[in-house]
Amino acid sequence: MDREASGGRGLVVVGASLAGLRAVQAARGCGYDGPVVLLGAEEHLPYDRPPLSKEFLTADGEPACYYLTERELKDDLAVDLRLGQSATGLDTAARRVISGDVGIPYRHLIIATGARPRLLRQAPGLPVVRTLRTLDDAREIRRAIRPGAHVVVVGGGFIGAEIASSARARGAAVTIVEVAPVPLVRAVGEVVGKALSGLHGRNGTRLVCGVQVEEVLGAQRAEGVRLSTGQVIRADLVIVGIGVTPATEWLAGSGIALSPADGAVLCDEYLRTSAPDVYAAGDVAHWPNRLLDCAMRLENWTNAADQGSQAAINALFPDRARAHETVPYFWSDWYGNRIQFVGTALAQSVCFASGGRDDDRFVAFYRAGERLVGAATLNEPRKVMKIRRLIAGRGSWESALELLAELSRTPVGAGRGGAAATKKMARQ
Ligand code: FAD
Repeated sequence: MDREASGGRGLVVVGASLAGLRAVQAARGCGYDGPVVLLGAEEHLPYDRPPLSKEFLTADGEPACYYLTERELKDDLAVDLRLGQSATGLDTAARRVISGDVGIPYRHLIIATGARPRLLRQAPGLPVVRTLRTLDDAREIRRAIRPGAHVVVVGGGFIGAEIASSARARGAAVTIVEVAPVPLVRAVGEVVGKALSGLHGRNGTRLVCGVQVEEVLGAQRAEGVRLSTGQVIRADLVIVGIGVTPATEWLAGSGIALSPADGAVLCDEYLRTSAPDVYAAGDVAHWPNRLLDCAMRLENWTNAADQGSQAAINALFPDRARAHETVPYFWSDWYGNRIQFVGTALAQSVCFASGGRDDDRFVAFYRAGERLVGAATLNEPRKVMKIRRLIAGRGSWESALELLAELSRTPVGAGRGGAAATKKMARQ
């Protein structure tokens, strides 16, 4: 190891998005005054991704989505900001991040490179098929969705559903093609997956399940998709939302342990990777969540924000280090409805604790043994965080039912269309 690398060089964060930004903010917020480099592949300042599939596609003008200005990052947080520069390798022995022909020495490193969309297996080149992960993707899609356009969304997960909802709001005719018999089963289970997929039909989106897209038809531009059933669906625009894979190709050969299943960075409960002083956070990180007694990788805003902060604190302030334990939480907005989920869908049984499958609001509970381990809600924003606290406290099934009864007696302020009413709460 060379002298420069081991001699107290600063914090390097790779990935200038939510987890990376939160790492930098936590470092400075806790009093770290060493050098900080924030390296990001995109040309943009760190920006908020959730709006990209929601108001960004539906608003008249382009909504602002940057978290901070360049001045705030460079001057207030004293960050050496290197945008439009990708890490291409990592030498853990020499403690250097490689970016092309430049070596960036680190004392502490945080990997926050997130994830990239999976692509359809398709002949290279034409026709154009879009994915939605970045601000540039969202700008392209925004331009392409016009009233009367025929949009095919491949994948009925949360991103696909939000794109479908936004395209409907823009007056497009929308079909979702989903390979599974019921969408969202991995995320929320079959019972709630069925209930949520009913929102598509009620809002004019056609949902075709249990089939695959075999081919995207057209020359330069998409003209349709051919399904595994042989059926052809007209499409002026094809958008693929079939999941993501962790962005870790730049770690090949670095010795950092990666998950054989999906290439995620394997961490311990403190978000430490297999290399000294190297931590990971956000969509890229797989770690044992002691609160739910299982190892997981999450793809949600709240976890990326929390893990980014925690990784920086653990790396820089060992006396304040804490295991990252969390009750997962995410939200999604479709057709003016707010969907929220807390905990895990890995349960022995699921039941509607209030409302039901076809109602415009419900609470569904996920039970494992005598414990409440998860909850899915539709337009019940005031209940979610209380339920989350109960799960965090390893609450029993009985106490969950009592809490729900108590909450149901409390007048609820938020009306239907809870999305707007709860925007603030979503970032808790
Ligand atoms: P990312 O945001 O993916 O950022 C990783 C950054 O690292 C990227 O900027 C990338 O360019 C950069 N990078 C990658 N490789 C390199 C490299 N080699 N060198 C340098 N930089 C690199 N979550 C919710 O809970 N609710 C929602 O409603 C919701 N909506 C969403 C809508 C959309 C359209 C998307 C895309 C995501 C949504 N999410 C939502 C998920 C949430 O935005 C992510 O969980 C969060 O952005 C993850 O943050 P991250 O920093 O870990 O990774």
